[in-house]
Amino acid sequence: MQEWSLTVDRFMEGAARWHGTTEIVTRYPDGTMLRSNYTGLHERARRISQALRQAGVRQGDKIATLASNSLDHLAVWYGVMGIGAICHTLNPRLHDDQLAFIANHAGDTWLFVDGVLAEQADRLRARASGIGTIIIINEIGYDGQFPHLEDFIAGHDADCPWGGFDERLTAGLCYTSGTTGDPKGIAYTHRSNTLHAMNTIAPDGFGLSALDVILPVVPMYHANTWGLAFSGPAVGAKLVMPGPQLDGGSLHSLIEAEAVTFAAGVPTVWQGYVDHLSDQGIGRTSLQRVVIGGAACPPALLTALEALGAKVTHAWGMTELSPVGLVATPTPSALALPEPDQRDLALKQGRPIGIDARIVDEGGSELPRDGVSVGLLEVRGPAVIERYVGHDQSALSADGWFDTGDIASIDEHGYVRITDRAKDIIKSGGEWISSVDVENALLTHPDVALAAVIGIAHDKWGERPKLYVQLRQSLTDRDGRDFKTTFRDYLAARIARWWVPDDVEIIDEIPIGATGKIDKKVLRELHETGGQSAC
Ligand code: AMP
Repeated sequence: MQEWSLTVDRFMEGAARWHGTTEIVTRYPDGTMLRSNYTGLHERARRISQALRQAGVRQGDKIATLASNSLDHLAVWYGVMGIGAICHTLNPRLHDDQLAFIANHAGDTWLFVDGVLAEQADRLRARASGIGTIIIINEIGYDGQFPHLEDFIAGHDADCPWGGFDERLTAGLCYTSGTTGDPKGIAYTHRSNTLHAMNTIAPDGFGLSALDVILPVVPMYHANTWGLAFSGPAVGAKLVMPGPQLDGGSLHSLIEAEAVTFAAGVPTVWQGYVDHLSDQGIGRTSLQRVVIGGAACPPALLTALEALGAKVTHAWGMTELSPVGLVATPTPSALALPEPDQRDLALKQGRPIGIDARIVDEGGSELPRDGVSVGLLEVRGPAVIERYVGHDQSALSADGWFDTGDIASIDEHGYVRITDRAKDIIKSGGEWISSVDVENALLTHPDVALAAVIGIAHDKWGERPKLYVQLRQSLTDRDGRDFKTTFRDYLAARIARWWVPDDVEIIDEIPIGATGKIDKKVLRELHETGGQSAC
């Protein structure tokens, strides 16, 4: 067979060659739409490569981005990776201190930034001395001092060689959000990204094809866009890049205007989407398939999306895995089950896609796949981390498995169910309470927008659950209502009595972290300081 290194530039080369007229659409922050296609994107990416090379950028240099999902962000992504440099996607929702830590730790030297984030970039450059050059992408509304991408590539042609290097070179860098300790870096190689993309494209993964119109709601800075920046071009699907506006109304207009068939994002985003449609009395979506991951998909959300006509696929992953590891697609044995049992399986996190998985007890012994035994979820595979950036020590166990920090069971059909993050699970009177199960039970209540359960110290039981609730915005008759009793009674009818939280607090807004997930660390601080509202 031919020597054919698995470098990600091949995805964009193939898209331009075989799907050149397929559209890529971007929405700017001001709502303006920009339309191009794979031929245009490929050429722009190559010109960026040429300009970078002529400015002295070499293999292994770290080029950061601070940007939402857009065509130009994609062009920079491929322009950097195509020449063997490393694209480091920074998360604009992180605090200045974290961004400075991450940029310095990674050794970033260039920064491509959205016009609307230029001030944040300027603050970052003041604290990350390695960043020599800032280039503005998506420049609408920006008239500051930094050069625009257009000026940077002016005079540069697209005649720049791509690839031709070892597939084990690092292509991209992403840091975990660091909810405990400093953020940690994960270096994705060309090979791992390629294999991960191929796995997620397959029917048992996301099932992507050239017929799809893909909306990557999940940002490029959140764990590699869950691979969509590679898998979309790999199949030649139309891409709809949403920019920074991910509220329900903005997503709805984009989905309908561009006839989006496939989208992926975290539950809070989809909750905003279904709430918007419900408030507007809209009963259908042109979306055909939605992948929900990053946090557990509440059953009520699955029901709401399916009622709109979209098929929901639950998936699980983490930054350390590139990131997708489990997808809840059907197997023959699952399809042979009665309808309610099939739905239970669809609500589990799924079965291994491109990875191997096992659950172990605290001593490291593998537990049976009986759907009942619960243990630490460990994984291994060609797109799973071996060690964090800059760490001397491997992140793996002695026998080569990565501990995900998640608690799970695996059933006889091979479906994994995550009960909690190890640090979120609540131990009460020596027994486990799954915070996810309590939250999911309450989320079916019509007055509840978001719910989060944390464990708090208790003299007798060790820990007891405490429930925080954000009420629906549309709820007007709030005054004088005893929500605490209402919600406790509602839960008591649905979960074990001793799981019902003793304490219920209604807050204005449940805190959302940098990747759009509920931030329980802030709730714990809120509880400890006795504060009223985190926001
Ligand atoms: P991150 O690296 O920020 O994407 O976070 C990874 C973590 O998110 C995992 O270790 C899980 O705890 C959580 N997570 C991701 N997907 C799911 C899911 N479908 N259900 C429950 N938790 C999830």
